[in-house]
Amino acid sequence: MQVATGIKIVNGIAIGKLHIFKAPVYEISEAAADPIEELARFEQARLKVQEQQHALYEKALKEAGEDSAGIFEAHEMMLDDDDLIDACKMIMTEQKKSAEYAAKEGFDNVAEMFREMDDPYFQARSADIIDLKNAMLDVLLGNDTDSLQGTEPSILVAEDLAPSETVKLDKSLLLGLVTREGSSNSHTAILARSMNLPTLIQCKSIEDDWEGKFAILDGYNSCLYIEPTQDLIDSLTARRNEDLKKEALLQELKGKTNTTVDGKTIRVFANIGGPADIGAVQQNDAEGVGLFRSEFVYLNSSEDPSEDSQFQAYKRVLETLSPKLVIIRTCDIGADKTIDYMNLDKEENPALGYRAIRICLTRKDFFKRQLRALLRASVYGKLGIMFPMIISLREVRECKEILEECKRELANEGVSYSKDIEIGIMIETPAAALCADELAEEVDFFSLGTNDLTQYTCAIDRQNAKLEPFSDTHHPAVLRLIQMTIEAGHRHGTWVGICGELGADPTLTETFLRMGVDELSVNPKSVLPLRKIIRSVDLSKSQS
Ligand code: PEP
Ligand code: MG
Repeated sequence: MQVATGIKIVNGIAIGKLHIFKAPVYEISEAAADPIEELARFEQARLKVQEQQHALYEKALKEAGEDSAGIFEAHEMMLDDDDLIDACKMIMTEQKKSAEYAAKEGFDNVAEMFREMDDPYFQARSADIIDLKNAMLDVLLGNDTDSLQGTEPSILVAEDLAPSETVKLDKSLLLGLVTREGSSNSHTAILARSMNLPTLIQCKSIEDDWEGKFAILDGYNSCLYIEPTQDLIDSLTARRNEDLKKEALLQELKGKTNTTVDGKTIRVFANIGGPADIGAVQQNDAEGVGLFRSEFVYLNSSEDPSEDSQFQAYKRVLETLSPKLVIIRTCDIGADKTIDYMNLDKEENPALGYRAIRICLTRKDFFKRQLRALLRASVYGKLGIMFPMIISLREVRECKEILEECKRELANEGVSYSKDIEIGIMIETPAAALCADELAEEVDFFSLGTNDLTQYTCAIDRQNAKLEPFSDTHHPAVLRLIQMTIEAGHRHGTWVGICGELGADPTLTETFLRMGVDELSVNPKSVLPLRKIIRSVDLSKSQS
């Protein structure tokens, strides 16, 4: 037995033959007779590759989600980059070289420039340029790139897979992925994660003559075993079968309702941070988005995001997930989430300080930019708007007034917005929970932010690791506030969900169901495990 170790990107066990992926060899003739003809060939190839990248975008969107698919959208744009394309054209017109030589030289130069940058993100982009160069050469030289994977299911080994090579792979022939190079930042790693395929990178000691050998990829221990011992085969096969059973059971739940044995149905939604998480919502069959933490749109931007750029982000999520309900929480900045361009003062007590709705209500232009972007995006799907850190009726009314002002402005400008937007607030302060009866009159829904509700109820700073021994996530005071909020909401026809971490705690699912919760919004990976629990609960029997 031989063992190669690497860095694990995706957990899991893959068992089967190794197939060593060999990149095609390009034989490039340098000289060309007619530059006009070469320019035309180059342009034809460029358009063809753009078309291919668009098809890969569509394929990745279905299989791996928006985040992964975005790579190919970026590739399409790179092929429109004037600097890159003009450099290639000059090689054909001034040096009188062939289209393939120009593509090789032009793209290699740009890839080299990226490789030399200090930032690992830009270094990783050099692989994207090489990927595009190879796609150009494949078109110009007429290579067939679909036959590189072999014909039987295998663990695929490669030097480093380009994103387009990764997405083109036939998943039914793919047991696992191993690369000699690669970085955890690379798009291949991102794609592997979204495909949930056992994957190792930087497995340097792979040998070429391992082609066709029987192997086990053990993602849990970051090892690749070549011709493993029988004991190892038995134990890792057992582990893989266990994983497969668990996964299959969860997959079977896709498309099913979150209904208890006695017939009560609730909604299980997903929490997301932006358009990049759309794929996870779809793959885990969440019925909607219960919390889109819009502050990540702000945190991911180096400057205050414009109304337009926000509109694009919200539109993308709403449009892709339509007709599912998508609840977007207005910017919850401050406390642990700070942003330089907001120029917020340092405070003694940031968790109790100038944050979230308090910032929005005092920086009205900032708030209106977001509300206008949300309203404009609302026509592309089913939107819910949720205000965070509410402590009083006055605040909710003010938020709603500003929202109405934005609607009036848009109407005057002739810009349409949906008339069917649900309005809600987060219940994450004891003040809001205790005033839930009054607040419920004002809104369509409540969403319990148990992370902050626990922090403020127990006076335990959620950022302070030293307080861990004092913290009790199931503190009876928090559970009572949750119960009170649900009851108050229902008295006024307001539905009530939970979007804090407690919503995903499987030991509390039955308790929440008995309290009458209408929705749980959790990290996407917890959607199907929760569905499993809900479907096993019988509320007509007393709680075990
Ligand atoms: C919460 O407080 O429970 C919540 C969902 O909001 P955040 O964790 O973003 O503060
Ligand atoms: Mg919160």
